[in-house]
Amino acid sequence: TDVVGPATPGKPETGISQDQSSVLYHQIRQKPLNIAGGRGSYLITEDGLEILDATCGAAVSCLGHSDKRVQEAIMEQLQKIPYCYSMFFTNTAAESLSKILVDSTGGKMTRAFIVSSGTEAVEAALKMAVQYFMELPTPQPQRANFISRKQSYHGNTLGSLSVGHHVGRRALYEKVLAKNTGHVAPCYPYRGMQSGESVESYVARLAQELEDEFQRLGPDTVCAFVAETMAGATLGCVPPLPGYLKAMKEVCGRHGALFILDEVMSGMGRTGTLHAWEQEDVVPDLQTMAKGLGAGYAPIAGLLLNKHVVDTLTKGTGAFSHSQTYQGHPVSCAAAVRVQQIIQEDNLLPNVRAMGDYLGQLLHEKFDGHPHVGDVRGRGLFWALEFVQDKETKEPYPPAKKLAWTIHVTGLKPEYAISLMPGNGGADGINGDHICLAPPYNTTRSEIEMIVERTSRVIKEVLG
Ligand code: PLP
Repeated sequence: TDVVGPATPGKPETGISQDQSSVLYHQIRQKPLNIAGGRGSYLITEDGLEILDATCGAAVSCLGHSDKRVQEAIMEQLQKIPYCYSMFFTNTAAESLSKILVDSTGGKMTRAFIVSSGTEAVEAALKMAVQYFMELPTPQPQRANFISRKQSYHGNTLGSLSVGHHVGRRALYEKVLAKNTGHVAPCYPYRGMQSGESVESYVARLAQELEDEFQRLGPDTVCAFVAETMAGATLGCVPPLPGYLKAMKEVCGRHGALFILDEVMSGMGRTGTLHAWEQEDVVPDLQTMAKGLGAGYAPIAGLLLNKHVVDTLTKGTGAFSHSQTYQGHPVSCAAAVRVQQIIQEDNLLPNVRAMGDYLGQLLHEKFDGHPHVGDVRGRGLFWALEFVQDKETKEPYPPAKKLAWTIHVTGLKPEYAISLMPGNGGADGINGDHICLAPPYNTTRSEIEMIVERTSRVIKEVLG
């Protein structure tokens, strides 16, 4: 119940002007609210408005905003040692976190690698995959292509943006993006499944598309297939169909390519298990994670490596040929260790599953009949509503309408005071506008009811 930060109702403290703000306005094109404090599931503006954070930012703040136990762990680490360089040293916090992560896979993954952001984790995974093929007893330098899924987002540096396929986010940079990634359809039943098609045939069709893409690129030129275990922000909380990831991994295995799961958003508990792949009967060769790892208390992300990748890398040059100044940062690692301990101590994963089911039930009750909500989907505490002009034709709203952003901005009005995560893919016709909901893992039934009630009022104002 403690408010963090100097929220002073009614008194702007910073007087930030639009010209000077650290936030660039390419998306929101308006002055953002200045957040001065936080309590549990609420963000508090400098004017004292308490906003229900129904999305944990970008599915990050999974313990809420004011967990004293994490704050204390950070302070303790700051007093011990704030930083040491991972090229020369290690530190207890980084070692503890690595052990927690490796142990959490029950021995399926054997090494962790800690960086500072989801993008960096993806970049490291891509580079590790390349290095893996160079370190094999017979090196395979021809493996220089990747395959990922349409409309995917894997980060915003040139490498990760090249692998991803979010048309809008790539548009400005197309001419400098790498051309070595093929893209296949995502598993997206709402728009991808044909009428009358069974789950088995849809999955088989997607696997065949991946097989065809391997053949098109040259099967022995593909280094890795990269996919989100559960598609997050850009597709809008789409859980994989049963058997889908297994079928995709089989195609990779057939051609000796690595299978990389990007769990930057869906990992570390968001879908109801610590790793989203645990529900899919697959084990990745490389896995990324980020947002729920440190719950936003510090910037941190990570990679988990399968034993055969570790063995190959360590037999070769003996090290991953990649290092960053803030790798294994002691304060970030200490925060993440405490966050992960709390997820276990407070038994939060069962709560994610129970509250997630409740959220799904209420969303279906409220929106299944809405003329402009085409699809309600999700898993764990990660749900989305996809909007359509016409439910029969599934025609999305034109991108110029910026529907999802309008819903987000409307939600921030004091009469609703809710933060909703907007997403839109309308530009390339793969999906329509959607909003995602991603409450903290310790959320309650009454918060879930409040989220659905406020969301419904916001949608009524925007869409009727
Ligand atoms: N991969 C996925 C699946 C993501 O959702 C994101 C961010 O939303 C990223 C990578 C990039 O992470 P970051 O923004 O921490 O660099």
